[in-house]
Amino acid sequence: MRANFRMQRLFVDADIVEASPIEAGQDQFNYLANVLRLEGGAEVLTFNGRDGEWRTGISFPSRKRIQLTPIEQTRPQPAPSDLHYLFAPLKVGRLDYLVQKAVEMGAGLLQPVMTQHVQGKITNIDRLKSNVVEAAEQCGILAIPNVTEPVKLTDLLQRWPIERRIIYCDEGDAGQNPLPLLRTIKEKHLALLVGPEGGFSEDERALLRGLDFVTAIPLGPRILRADTAAVAAMAVIQAAIGDWE
Ligand code: SAH
Repeated sequence: MRANFRMQRLFVDADIVEASPIEAGQDQFNYLANVLRLEGGAEVLTFNGRDGEWRTGISFPSRKRIQLTPIEQTRPQPAPSDLHYLFAPLKVGRLDYLVQKAVEMGAGLLQPVMTQHVQGKITNIDRLKSNVVEAAEQCGILAIPNVTEPVKLTDLLQRWPIERRIIYCDEGDAGQNPLPLLRTIKEKHLALLVGPEGGFSEDERALLRGLDFVTAIPLGPRILRADTAAVAAMAVIQAAIGDWE
């Protein structure tokens, strides 16, 4: 079900129970009272990643406090997306973008992967997580994708569960059209792997191409930046074998 895009959507940590008020945190207070300038009696949509989405009333028990009172559930809690996104961290600004776009495009889990030519690093997982929440609020996703600790590519591949196929964006692939390759995939569980700004090393390409549970795909005739490649790859995967079908 598509979300209602006219109402403001707000992530809360607390359990959401009908008629049980939730105290808004300081940032939420600022956002609701000072940025959106909402008044008592206004309504927003709340979600916490567990209890679905709720139409929620706003009240001001005092000038400095807001209570959020769930009125009725508007959407039930869905299962999380099953598409895992494996990405080499980029430098900070681009990393924020990459995380937000991946969530919007339907990634269900974000796994940073350290490759030989990776330039960025994950210094603050909480920053990634707040980007995930921001994107979920923005685009109506109710199951909040998890962000896992970074792992080395070789370690990841060694203990990979082979029933989940890795779709690997190979900038060295001579082909251009990923669709025929994607359509051969039978597995239901999928992961997408996109390299760093510096690309994959020749060793990594050989390793990936030698694995039965990996499908290498091209993404057209141009070399895309890693953040663009991620969005392009997710779009073709969702359209060919994912949730746009
Ligand atoms: N510096 C590298 C490009 C890296 S692009 C070079 O010049 O070759 C970053 C990542 O985006 C790549 O590792 C790959 O996963 C993906 N990518 C970019 N363009 C692509 C394309 N045309 N086909 C497949 N993957 C691509």
